[in-house]
Formats: sequence, structure tokens, C-alpha cells
Amino acid sequence: MMMDHPLLITTMLHRARKLFPKKEVFSRCFDQDHRLTYSQFYERTCRLANVLASLGVKPGDRIGSFAWNNHRHLELYFAVPCSGAVLHTINLRLFPDQLVHVINHAEDKIIFIDEDLVPLLARIADQLTTVEKFIILSDKDELPEINLPRALSYEKLLAEAPAEYDFPEDLDENTPAAMCYTTATTGAPKGVIYTHRSIYLHAMMVALPDVLNVRERDSILPVVPMFHVLSWGIPYAGVWMGSKLVLPGRLLTPEAICKLIEEEKVTLPVGVPTIWIGLHQHLQSGASYDFSSVTYIVNGGSAISKSLIKSFEENYGIKVLHGYGMTETSPVVLISEPKSYIDQWDPDRRYAQQARQGLVVPGTEMKIVDVNGKEVAWDGKEMGELCFKGPWIADSYYRDPERSAEAFRDGWLHTGDIVTIDEEGYIFIQDRAKDLIKSGGEWISSIDLENTIMAHPDVVEAAVIAIPDEKWVERPMACIVLKESAREEVDQQDILEFLKDKVAKWWIPDRVLFLDEIPKTSVGKFNKKELRKTYS
Ligand code: AMP
Repeated sequence: MMMDHPLLITTMLHRARKLFPKKEVFSRCFDQDHRLTYSQFYERTCRLANVLASLGVKPGDRIGSFAWNNHRHLELYFAVPCSGAVLHTINLRLFPDQLVHVINHAEDKIIFIDEDLVPLLARIADQLTTVEKFIILSDKDELPEINLPRALSYEKLLAEAPAEYDFPEDLDENTPAAMCYTTATTGAPKGVIYTHRSIYLHAMMVALPDVLNVRERDSILPVVPMFHVLSWGIPYAGVWMGSKLVLPGRLLTPEAICKLIEEEKVTLPVGVPTIWIGLHQHLQSGASYDFSSVTYIVNGGSAISKSLIKSFEENYGIKVLHGYGMTETSPVVLISEPKSYIDQWDPDRRYAQQARQGLVVPGTEMKIVDVNGKEVAWDGKEMGELCFKGPWIADSYYRDPERSAEAFRDGWLHTGDIVTIDEEGYIFIQDRAKDLIKSGGEWISSIDLENTIMAHPDVVEAAVIAIPDEKWVERPMACIVLKESAREEVDQQDILEFLKDKVAKWWIPDRVLFLDEIPKTSVGKFNKKELRKTYS
């Protein structure tokens, strides 16, 4: 028999401290760049754990973070779970009602906020029923002038806290460590809880050679936000393996990312297609950088086109690695690394293979079932719903029995993604069962948007569909039927004005199309499939 040793995030922290004290975390905050060694990072993480204890944080308490990718957020990634509490990474792109919902639903006790994001929470602070304190993450020791009650300065608290902390070694590996909310088709966002064990196993898998191949000699740039599915586990895998981490802060222009890649000799930049489309356009406009350090651009969150993969490789010598995942799957579950003999295929066929979402990763089980629950053939043609099970796949949504019962059935997570699988085992997404729109890596609920538009006094019907967009991959387009009497008066501008103070800015449709009627399905629902076929 083997030792029954718990799988804890603390293991990663101690390994970085002992083996890689000289390795570096680069962090861009506000106007300032920071460079911390893992030794300094460890000390600050201990100080933060002491701060949490002094603020009365108990095991299991939920601690919110509302921050960009920077070293303070990384300190929270470790200090919170390693001291037994649960880090709730709040998606700062949610709109106010959703923010109020997720913070109250998670019952966050303390929220750590980047200084520049304070206004987003200040306007809803009086609706947050469980938050006792706000801690401001800022480069300054003194608290900046802000309009938020019960606020304290992170740097001041850290400076006053002891530099040593004994992280508990006897935590159960199934202790909740972190949580994230994912936007749903209808209703409020759904919460997913990650445990020490799931994060540990997922990070180890992410580091495998045929997944992201995370090594000590890597310099990893997670452009994917730390508030979205734990930045795909990169911060955990990176710290554990002793890689250099390059945390880009809020400035994510193509130019800023290209400069970071060149200056910090990044080997693995990781992000959603919108980022890579922007970067590709920047290169096409004639900008030139030294990208010789890059092993792969890692793309996930939405599909990347074959033509982009091809152009990156043929015009700029940059390989693209394509992965797939979801909040419920921690997220990495499919990776499209070509098998060795696929390298011999004609390049066009190989690029097409890389544009597929890929092979299931080691440690996860997958099946694709038709409407009768029968597994589809591996022929690249027959479609079915993609399902997963495994040690880093959620088994329910947090305090949400109804929607849990819909997605988690017979021991499987039913993803709602409709896919095919080819003879080689590569999965290819064909469509979403639901009609969500994914803009720049973030979801827009078409139903929420339709309901808001239909609140306009002159609107009879509204259906929102995704239209392809070069930069954001998808953007919403609203198809609207107006009241007869208003047809001469109301135009696109009126509708957009109406939405301005009702939805987040990036939810506002790019186009409004006025129709005489919206096509309906046999059961009287808006036929979005038909709309997409006609207008996308
Ligand atoms: P989220 O939980 O916000 O990460 O969204 C998960 C959903 O994003 C999945 O169910 C897919 O529909 C979509 N998705 C993630 N990765 C990819 C990809 N590589 N290609 C296409 N769709 C993807």
C-alpha cells in the first residue's frame, strides 16, 4: 500500500520556495512593473495568510478577488486556499445585477479589489449583504481616496503582518479551494467549486508534455484572465514547476502583448482567439518583434480558425496549440496537439486537424451521445453531445439543485456542446446546444438581451443571434419587430440608446436589423437557427 498523502495546493507553494527561490514573477500593475522572486512571493503569501487570520477568516470562508492578472492576485491564489479558505475569483465583466448575485450567493466575507476597479463595486456596495471588508490592491501603501466603506490597504496590512506562516498540512484534499461562476443561458450565473485535489491533479495534467508541456525553463504569459476558470490552471502549474510567470495586468493591446513576449522572452502565451486575432492583425500591419522564444501560442475558450493557425505558422514561424474547456471542467479537457504521424500529412490537412478541439487529455473520460444516449461513430460526421467525467470535472453547481440535475446526469457532465469525433479521436465542435454568444472569450446571454430589448415600448419581438466578428469572434446582432405605428420613427440608434444603462457596454449589439416578423419553430419559439442561416 502507498501513503495516504493529501493532494494540496500547499505542495506547489513549498516546492517553488525550496527549489526555485531565484525564479521570477513579472507583474504589471497600474503604471508600475514589479519583479518578485519566488522567495519574495512566498514571504508575501505568508504575510497575506497572517492578514487573513487577523481579519478573522475561518476555514471554508469565501474570500472574493476582483482583480486583473498581477502578483497580488497570485498571492491570493495561494494564501487563501492554503490557509483553508475558498477563493472566489469574481468575473469583473459581469454587470451590476450579476455581481450582486454572485457575491451574495457565494457569501463572500472579504473582497480584495484592484484600485482601478473600485468604482465597479462601489456602486453596488450597499447591496452586498455578507461582505465585512474591502481590501484595496494598490501600488501605494496608503489607501487611495475611494468611495467604499470598510476599506483597508493591502500593502499596509502586509507590511504590518509577520513574514512567516505555518500552512496547515492536515487539510483534507477534498477541501474546497476556489470557486468561479459561469454565465448561464437563462437565469443567474452558476457556481462551480474546485477542491485542492481537483486543482492539484488538473495542474499536474496541464504540465504534461502532450498538454501544455510546462517546464522550469518556460516563461508563461497568461493573457487569459485570472478571474476566469483560474486562468486555466496556469498559475498553479507555473508556480509548481518553477516557471517564470509574466502577469500582464490590464493593458492587453496587441502592442503591449507583443512587447511583453519579446522583452520577457515568453515561451507560452495563453489566451482566447480575440487576443490572437488582434496580435495577428498587428503583425500584418508591419509591426515586427523577436518571437524566437515562443514554443506555442496556446488558444482556448473559443475555436480558432484554420487560416489563422496557418498564417501564424507560415508567415511568422509561430505554432498554435488549440485547447478546449469549460468552467465545469477546470477547464482543460481537450488538446489538439497533432500526433507524430499527422506531421507527415499535407500541411492543409494538418492545419484543419489543429483547428479541431482535439483529443481528450489523460485522466478524463469522454463520451459523445446522440439524443437516445447511444454513442456516436468515430467518423467525423455523426453528431452528438459531448460528455465528461473525471477527477477535475464538477459534479454539481453550487447550491443549485435544479440546474445541477439538468447538466449532471448518470455520473456524467453533459456539456451542451454538439460535436463530431474523427477516426483519430479528435473532437470537433459543430454547434452549441444553447444559443449563447461568446464575445472576446466572455458569454453574452441572448435571452437576457432579448428580454431587455423587448422592454422597449415600441418593440414587439426581439431575437438576438451571434454574427461572426474578426476581432471578438462573435458579436450580438438583434433582429427586431417594431409596432406598426413606430416603424417610421424608431431606428437602430434609439434601440442602442435604450440599452445603454441596462446592460454592460460590451453586450450592446453591433447591429440591429428590423424585420416584419421573426421566423418561429413548430412550437412557436424564435427560430434562431433559421435567422443564423439567413443573416450570419
Ligand atoms: P466557459 O465555461 O465560459 O469557459 O465556456 C465553455 C464553453 O466555451 C464550452 O462549452 C464551449 O462551448 C466553448 N469553448 C471552449 N473552448 C472552445 C474551443 N477551443 N473551441 C470552441 N468552443 C470552445
